[in-house]
Amino acid sequence: MRAYRGRFAPTPSGPLHFGSLIAALASYLDARHQHGHWLLRIENIDPPRCPAGAADTILRQLEAFGLHWDGPVHWQHDRDDAYHEALTRLEALGLAYPCSCSRKQWRDYPVYPGWCRTGPREPDKPLAWRLRSDLGPTPVTWQDRLFGRQRLDAASFGDVVLKRKDGLWAYQLAVVVDDGDQRITDVVRGFDLLDNMLWQRQLQHALALPAPRYLHLPLILGDNGQKLSKQNLAPALPEQEDAVRPLLHRALIALDQAPPSGLATEPVSSQLDWAIAHWSPRSLQATAERREPRHNAL
Ligand code: GLU
Repeated sequence: MRAYRGRFAPTPSGPLHFGSLIAALASYLDARHQHGHWLLRIENIDPPRCPAGAADTILRQLEAFGLHWDGPVHWQHDRDDAYHEALTRLEALGLAYPCSCSRKQWRDYPVYPGWCRTGPREPDKPLAWRLRSDLGPTPVTWQDRLFGRQRLDAASFGDVVLKRKDGLWAYQLAVVVDDGDQRITDVVRGFDLLDNMLWQRQLQHALALPAPRYLHLPLILGDNGQKLSKQNLAPALPEQEDAVRPLLHRALIALDQAPPSGLATEPVSSQLDWAIAHWSPRSLQATAERREPRHNAL
């Protein structure tokens, strides 16, 4: 078996919030429990969405919660050559094609209908690049460590964008290339990303990359019943130790790890030592969504 290599891969579109803490903490505990590496990748391929200073705040927040990563931070803005090479290979395999269509043109269809598969309809317009999902393996099936056997069909998802018309790389291509280059064996992340698996598996297959194991985590909903997110103005994680301790404890409760109540006032390092030793992904309840355990402070 390959030595465990996990990662946390935030998009620095704002500071981390309680929902992102759950993903960071679970992937950290899973890696450390298995004496594996835990890497940090900043997914900043979309500069207009990433305010200055947000990535630095994320690094400080992770440090404040004792989530120390191995090796240098991996920045996606440095990775143009690698993504370009991957796209060139996909094109040579007949699995990527330029597309001139706008969202407006296919708004009556549930997914992009693949009109440019045989050549762009309007070649003089700006072109995006899309994946030929109909030519990849379909259905894609895999065993999620929490949600069990999964199956996704290409026809329900369509041809995803790999490179945008404005020249920016898209998440699906970047995440697969980087998980491959960083030799990631285990991905632990939120349930909202499970639907991306069709494309990610197809891209791994096309680029001959080994497929990591996946554990998708239940999403934590805020008081309003909505997913905690930057758009919903979820509060930023604190960085002061007195505020971090109880929040770390609540994150362990949200991950169904049943930490002793006395642990809530213990230093971050003691809480993490306990959590690494007792980490039990089997205790996680496989519900796609759940309420944050105590609602008053978030
Ligand atoms: N960058 C993505 C996010 O912040 C996560 C990507 C992943 O874990 O695959 O939602």
